[in-house]
Amino acid sequence: MEYTGISAASGYALGPAFLFQKQIIQITKSEVHKERLDSEIKRFEEALGQAAEELEKIKEKTKQTMGPEEAEIFSAHILVLEDPEYSGAIKEMIRLEELNAEWAVQEITNRFLNIFASMDNEYIRERAADLRDISNMVIRNLMGINSLSLSEISENVVLFAHDLTPSDTAQLDREKIAGIVTNIGGRTSHSAIMARSMEIPAVVGMQDIVEKINSGEFVIVDGSEGKVFVNPSEEWIQIYRDKKKNYEVRRQEFKMLVHEPSMTSDGVQVELVANIGNPQDALVAVTNGAEGIGLYRTEFLYMGRQELPSEEEQFEAYKAVTEMFGKEHPVVIRSLDIGGDKALPYLDMPKEMNPFLGYRAIRLCLDRTDIFRTQLRAILRASAYGNIKLMYPMIASLEELRGANKILEAAKQELFSQGSPFNKDMEVGIMVEIPAVAVMADRFADEVDFFSIGTNDLIQYTMAADRTNETVAYLSQPFNLAVLRLIKGVIDAAHKAGKRVAMCGEMAGDLTALPILLGLGLNEFSMSASSVLPARALVRQLPKEKAQAIAKAVLEMDNPKEIERFVKQEMQLLRGTR
Ligand code: PEP
Ligand code: MG
Repeated sequence: MEYTGISAASGYALGPAFLFQKQIIQITKSEVHKERLDSEIKRFEEALGQAAEELEKIKEKTKQTMGPEEAEIFSAHILVLEDPEYSGAIKEMIRLEELNAEWAVQEITNRFLNIFASMDNEYIRERAADLRDISNMVIRNLMGINSLSLSEISENVVLFAHDLTPSDTAQLDREKIAGIVTNIGGRTSHSAIMARSMEIPAVVGMQDIVEKINSGEFVIVDGSEGKVFVNPSEEWIQIYRDKKKNYEVRRQEFKMLVHEPSMTSDGVQVELVANIGNPQDALVAVTNGAEGIGLYRTEFLYMGRQELPSEEEQFEAYKAVTEMFGKEHPVVIRSLDIGGDKALPYLDMPKEMNPFLGYRAIRLCLDRTDIFRTQLRAILRASAYGNIKLMYPMIASLEELRGANKILEAAKQELFSQGSPFNKDMEVGIMVEIPAVAVMADRFADEVDFFSIGTNDLIQYTMAADRTNETVAYLSQPFNLAVLRLIKGVIDAAHKAGKRVAMCGEMAGDLTALPILLGLGLNEFSMSASSVLPARALVRQLPKEKAQAIAKAVLEMDNPKEIERFVKQEMQLLRGTR
């Protein structure tokens, strides 16, 4: 059986399916004899203790594989488990109503959940999710049912899930997950971006595949084409084993380019840099030959924890990345871009009808200047250790840019008067991800040091199509002429003002888009670390002149599919002539 979804991370995986799904457990209500009430309560306490041990283990494992920040997610779970109000209410129900522990856990949990549901508060809703997880864990222990945990998965499975949140994805052990398949999500949803950075082949937006598959069924994931095959024939398995082998060989060949320059065959130098979410990703970027960091998504430092990271903690993280790249290679740190599909439960952000059009990123930072100033101070302090550039996300107007710069100036003044060193000439740029800024690029170019085009959002706002909604994923079209014209306008305006233009949206790592972008004059391509070497191989084959001809030709077309086909054909012809 063959299913088609959205390609989220390339590569091939073969192996048994592992269904990650909340188990539906049937709980029956039974009376407990008065004499057995003490032992029933003891049974509950033991199940609670087991759950706490399980959580500690998961937390420890996450700390080792992903780092301390990711591990903090489980501290929140443990806090809920240890809440005496919760466990006390369960014990009381067992004793007063003479009922079994499983039933009491379910009933009391539902009572708490009902109270949570009536509160219009994101933080409380997140705690509701924790409580649901924890009560399942306790009930499983009471009933002797094995737990399913993402961090405890055995060797080499293909993970199937309805959805994976960024924090689910952070828990994955890349040694054990051969592939990922999810019902929902798009190519630029944050869990897809994380799958790419972990180099796990992934297909998302499969609608209802999780309902159709059973754990243990043999599957093939074709992350490059966005296909999944369930119980394939022997012949098909062989075809994909070969594809996987060739893919690995090609990856080995790419490895030889780690220290080679990113120069076109007619001698034009471009910058191939990486997008990262944390200091560990920076190491992967270095080993993949990235010439710097074009986008450090700092919001991951704020996620999966209970409170805002301190200035010191942030300073250490930014300094660690910068030191990894030395003085010459740039590290572009983006200020906090929270909101949209990235929530911060502890910030008590308002519930919104359209979070992608709401209170996010720079909008929040200009409002919560306490949070913003702390981060700017940390970035400035780290700038003394390397070549850090600052970038503001989601800028929509010149006033916002000026407002942000004002706070930056104040932070500089503070550090100066405290005698804290920082780079006074640190470059400051903006993401171009709102069409209004692309249209006004000439005006913005006078007030920034660089642009970085964020196509993930630029496309969703240009096409009015939510980037996480698979039903409108067909509109997520990097090759739409409207998008290409906006990109061209930004590059031309920046070059006219003598400024450089980068792109850090996923389009920058798309090998079919790359010839067009190179032809339009893009200076820097920032992408998932795993895309850097394939991109370098392509750049080294391609004369800039040829890329310019390709860009000129596609600007005359208007069908995105035709544009894509045309570039692929041209590249094939180019390879054929070599
Ligand atoms: C973008 O919007 O293209 C981008 C790089 O930012 P993010 O994906 O983090 O929104
Ligand atoms: Mg964005």
